[in-house]
Amino acid sequence: MPPTFPQSPADLADASWLEIAALYDVLASDGPTPDTAREWLRRWSQLEEFVNEASSQALIEYTGNTADGAAEARYLRFVTEIQPSAEARQTSLARLLIATGIDDADIAVLLREFRTSVSIFRDENVSRFAQIEELSAAYQKIAGGLSVEIDGEVLTVPQLQPLLEVEDRASRERAFRAGADAYLAHRDEFSDLFERMYALRQAVAHESGFGDFQSFAFAAKHRHDYTPDDVARFHDAVVEVVTPAAARVHANRRERLGLETLRPWDLAVDPDGLAPLRPFQSAADFVASSGRIFTSLDHELGERFADMTRDGLLDLESRPNKAPGGYCTTLHHRRQPFVFMNAVGVADDVTTLVHEAGHCFHAYLASDRELIWQRGTGSEAAELASMSMELLAAPYFALPVGYYTPDQARRAQAAHLEDVLLALPHIASVDAFQRWIYTSGNGHDRDARDAAWLAVRARFDVGVDWSGLDRERTARWYRQLHIFELPFYYIEYGIAQLGALQIWQRSLSDPAGALEGYKAALRLGGTRTLPELYATAGARLIFDADGMRELVELVEERLETLRGSTVS
Ligand SMILES: [Zn+2]
Repeated sequence: MPPTFPQSPADLADASWLEIAALYDVLASDGPTPDTAREWLRRWSQLEEFVNEASSQALIEYTGNTADGAAEARYLRFVTEIQPSAEARQTSLARLLIATGIDDADIAVLLREFRTSVSIFRDENVSRFAQIEELSAAYQKIAGGLSVEIDGEVLTVPQLQPLLEVEDRASRERAFRAGADAYLAHRDEFSDLFERMYALRQAVAHESGFGDFQSFAFAAKHRHDYTPDDVARFHDAVVEVVTPAAARVHANRRERLGLETLRPWDLAVDPDGLAPLRPFQSAADFVASSGRIFTSLDHELGERFADMTRDGLLDLESRPNKAPGGYCTTLHHRRQPFVFMNAVGVADDVTTLVHEAGHCFHAYLASDRELIWQRGTGSEAAELASMSMELLAAPYFALPVGYYTPDQARRAQAAHLEDVLLALPHIASVDAFQRWIYTSGNGHDRDARDAAWLAVRARFDVGVDWSGLDRERTARWYRQLHIFELPFYYIEYGIAQLGALQIWQRSLSDPAGALEGYKAALRLGGTRTLPELYATAGARLIFDADGMRELVELVEERLETLRGSTVS
């Protein structure tokens, strides 16, 4: 007897992989013909909506209370059993669809992605990916379990952060060194894990007919509209234009701190000795001010944020047993997003919520697209939605609408723009390092890797005095989980940041037009190519120095104005 098709995501909450596999099998055995292809695709989309939402629901419940054993088991079943196994079934369904010769113009982007996924899929790689997952879990276990002892107190690495912000320089140095040492103490274990991952990833690439894992990753991530060479140009352009600007941000900080040289433990302390910003007192305050900000920016977006508040789709405040971090997930059957974060009343909470709200607006505006795949985009466009929102919302951060006095709002915006300039060289260096790892022929050698990281950092990261700290400097890449767990996932943030700066640039002279373009792009969901989505938003993909220069100059001018008018 064939399994009954679920009526809602709740029907799949406790489903095993075998039960879900049976649903995929029904679609496969009742495969599409040229006449039924579109209707069949709709049914498949509906199954994905149910599975996807059941999985999101499991994530929400588990991260909301990690002490709930049943929620943990449900979440782990989705992440470790269902999601990895579903991929092979999805690829076979995509193969059946393509075989019908379907060529509908409105799903051209989706068909292009299906074709790529089918062409790179190999059964032999399934077990390799499973092994990589296990190694990732082992990395996470070591990295998550690191602790340091300071003044008899045992702290996790994230708990060192407040110590890096204190006025006393010697205490900051001690905290910085302790954090680096925690990673360096496990260098051999991390290296062993990485070398196994490296070998598996290169084997995956070769199996699928690619020369190295970088070219495989470009195909697997559906990067159809830019190439590894474009990204190499991006690296060069960052070195030419952004690295010098980041060095000026560092020089400004050094002067304000009154230091001879800026050391790596001087980067988190407030350069004017000011107390940290406290944007809100309670979660209710936080939601109310944020709601006023989005309504002031745009009536429709304000309404969507009000929907989320009303429908219980915001889990914002930190509380015991909540998982760390923040995310926005989409409930595809309800066609609504959900935001999770750990707000404690600091300026970063504002950045996080505004960023995640950008993802939520994307989910809402694209929600009436027929097929699940038409509602989502790659990270380059997804992060354009969220990073643009960080910049578009900033003019409303001052009271009575937002969280801050006018001076505090200027300080928050200056800090954000400094972060934008400092992040780009970091993003480029993480990507350039991985390019070296997978294409130089020496990525398997741990000493060569550390040396390559130092060379990459010396090129991209200028303005901080690292003399005598080579060891500590190498610790940084062991800490970058993307390099271990999500290879080549990072440059998207750089591409999107440059897109967001273009939307912001337009908003300075034409706020209504900028917002209209932004919303029009979000409404397209994943129905257009990446360059088309950016063009609709009023931006382009930037990999060149001239494109970066114009935006960097704008950010630096704005920084100068903000710094000049702030009375501290
Ligand atoms: Zn994001």
